[in-house]
Amino acid sequence: QSIARSEVLEYCKTNKSPNDVGGLQILKDWLKQRKQAFSEEAKDFGLPLPKGVLLVGPQGTGKTLVAKAIANSWSMPLLRLDVGRLFAGLVGASEARTRETIQRAEAMAPCILWIDEIDKAFGGDGRSDGGTSQRVLANILTWMSEKTSSVFLVATANGIDKLPPELLRKGRFDEIFMLELPSRNERHSILELHLQKRRPNLKIDLNAALDRTEGFSGAELEQSVIEAMYFAFAEKRELVEGDLILATSQLVPLSRTAREQLES
Ligand code: ATP
Repeated sequence: QSIARSEVLEYCKTNKSPNDVGGLQILKDWLKQRKQAFSEEAKDFGLPLPKGVLLVGPQGTGKTLVAKAIANSWSMPLLRLDVGRLFAGLVGASEARTRETIQRAEAMAPCILWIDEIDKAFGGDGRSDGGTSQRVLANILTWMSEKTSSVFLVATANGIDKLPPELLRKGRFDEIFMLELPSRNERHSILELHLQKRRPNLKIDLNAALDRTEGFSGAELEQSVIEAMYFAFAEKRELVEGDLILATSQLVPLSRTAREQLES
């Protein structure tokens, strides 16, 4: 309850599971392996608890989806940390707020602490003055290297080049995963997954769809399925031929270009 009202830490509901994630098999296998560390046998074995994972990739490649799937499949609460809100006016206030927030997360352990857009928070794009953000980062880094609690950190970022190098050093994250745009096989599973979830009876020409969706993110593939559903509903049919995917494949990157222009 107190978490739900908090500004800095937000409790996120999730009903996502690894089955909702198409592709990304290496990441899913790795997470399955790390999950084992939370068992009593693993503790007796002396297996250290995992510290966290950094997920880097373009928009819509499933980073948020994976964070939610981890929390749900590990049966742990998902706490989203809004780093921007750690930055307070008075000297020293940001560091104090950071330490207090970390303590509150530790009090909720075992849990998943999710830092979204960590590159924006610490990539020096002006959300705070450089000195404060350096000190907040230092607090987080110290916590990460000394951490023994069962708070699993999931950080997500769109790019790696702006990230402070100290965040990428060994001893911080257990692993860094680059989520690329999905391959043909991955696009196949993502399209099928969203079709199955939304309208299993709908037949689309998957081969044509795969030919025409190269460079699509998972989010854009989901949107293509929705477009196909709109078409099928309007036409009162359950069969959508390849030409429709051609239409939607032109439409989706257009909307991406518009988004990029808005953000720049
Ligand atoms: P951003 O950088 O903009 O935050 P993101 O990488 O966090 O993007 P998500 O928010 O996870 O992307 O993706 C949006 C939606 O796209 C998901 O909720 C899901 O429906 C769909 N999606 C993205 N990737 C996948 C995937 N690999 N499998 C299935 N669905 C996907």
